[in-house]
Amino acid sequence: MRAVRQVETENASLAAKLKARIAADGPLSIEAYMKACLLDERAGAYASRQPIGGKGDFITAPEISQIFGELLGLWAIAIWQSMGEPRSVIVAELGPGRGTLIADALRAWRAWPQFVESVAVALVEASPVMAEAQRQTLHDAPAPLRWCARLDEVPEGRLILLANEFIDALPIRQLVRRGNSWRERLVANDDKGCFAFVEGEAVALEDQVQAAWGRDAPEGAILETRPEANRLLCELAHRATRAPLAALFIDYGHDETGFSDTLQAVRGHRFADPLAAPGEADLSAHVDFADLKTRAEAVGLKVYGPLPQGEFLLKLGLGQRRERLLERTTSAQKAAIASAAARLVDPQQMGVLFKVLALTSAGLVPPPPFAPEHLTLSS
Ligand code: SAH
Repeated sequence: MRAVRQVETENASLAAKLKARIAADGPLSIEAYMKACLLDERAGAYASRQPIGGKGDFITAPEISQIFGELLGLWAIAIWQSMGEPRSVIVAELGPGRGTLIADALRAWRAWPQFVESVAVALVEASPVMAEAQRQTLHDAPAPLRWCARLDEVPEGRLILLANEFIDALPIRQLVRRGNSWRERLVANDDKGCFAFVEGEAVALEDQVQAAWGRDAPEGAILETRPEANRLLCELAHRATRAPLAALFIDYGHDETGFSDTLQAVRGHRFADPLAAPGEADLSAHVDFADLKTRAEAVGLKVYGPLPQGEFLLKLGLGQRRERLLERTTSAQKAAIASAAARLVDPQQMGVLFKVLALTSAGLVPPPPFAPEHLTLSS
């Protein structure tokens, strides 16, 4: 009870802190607002507590079924093989949540002792609370682990990068079309003591990619951009010129650039008002896969997909792994295993809304399941 009251006080103080900041400096960009709500060191949704899972705000694929992390682990092995089975490779995960995906990948890796001897795992996590949760999950990992607050702290070398529901948590900017110009959507204080969206002065578009998306936008259209994702792609492109690299991004989003507001808040597994309670809800926004793909190609990466998550997982062998798991379990668990696996691939559930984009350095062959001769992964 005391802990609950403590969190409530911290969050009340985040709202007060943001209101004071707005009163002093003027309205905040959505990017700054979202960053504070997620990562404010005392009261951000990720920085002050653990929002993932049945008792939290939302649930993710690795928390639904162990098959998800196992298949991504096998994907990493296939990439390592395509790199020529080097004696040293880094598997990095961006935003590892509770560490469940890597724990499941590590289990799948047990059948490849040579890979386990060659791999070092890097967990890229901005929140100390989440990093602690990952340490607990991974306390008996058979491979060396290191935690990094940012991708640029991950050591140089051959890199296999996994990121599930990471990009949707990176803050967005929203630009609104007004006449021939674009205005930034901001968060202001209203006269009732609440937060409200307002439009700021006209701003320049960030670059030519954005100008191309915005060219035919109708009046009132909202163009969303994600500066941190763009910086991430540039960093991957630089690394790809120095050592082989393959990255897998899995997220919810659209494969055509749209013109609408996709900022959303989820609290206790229900949609909420993004301005209502800073720090108490998970804020995220759809990933624009068309934009990601265009930008990744522009910086020289090879791009595969996006594929719907359901198709991706089935092609990697979800069906076979589910059958193997079912054979080994009691009948009481069978229904839960089957329905969890179905949730990941069912088009009405996560199978289509979630999409998978793979990026590689120029010298690597197409990764599974994008390779034309792809065979199901198995251990
Ligand atoms: N991949 C996990 C968790 C997704 S939630 C899963 O599928 O369950 C997003 C994760 O990214 C959390 O661990 C959060 O703390 C972390 N995160 C958010 N913004 C970050 C940033 N800028 N840098 C590093 N980690 C971040």
